[in-house]
Amino acid sequence: MLKVVKERCTGCGLCTESCPLQAISMSNGYAQIDVSRCRECRLCLEACPQGAITETAPASNRELQATVSSLKQKTADIIKRIDELQHPEHKPDDLATMRSDFEDLS
Ligand code: SF4
Ligand code: SF4
Repeated sequence: MLKVVKERCTGCGLCTESCPLQAISMSNGYAQIDVSRCRECRLCLEACPQGAITETAPASNRELQATVSSLKQKTADIIKRIDELQHPEHKPDDLATMRSDFEDLS
């Protein structure tokens, strides 16, 4: 998977012109790659004069399993809190905590 290193990107737009799949757009002065469109032809990587487009190493099975476990735990915590909220004795700050947990999942 490719990504743009914002600190190196000057916003010149050469990468957007090089991409045959229109997978790169400019956002707030930086290039942004739509990974759902990208087919990793690497043309943009070669076109960037700043070396701002780099390849990220694919996640290992171990990292993926750790992420899935973490998401399962967070989901279980959220479901538990929803259950608790269905009882009148719930704490008033539980909704704020739930919102924070959902944001962590995204
Ligand atoms: S070619 Fe490189 S420096 Fe220019 S916009 Fe694309 S990523 Fe940024
Ligand atoms: S690798 Fe190819 S398809 Fe993907 S963003 Fe770069 S130019 Fe576009």
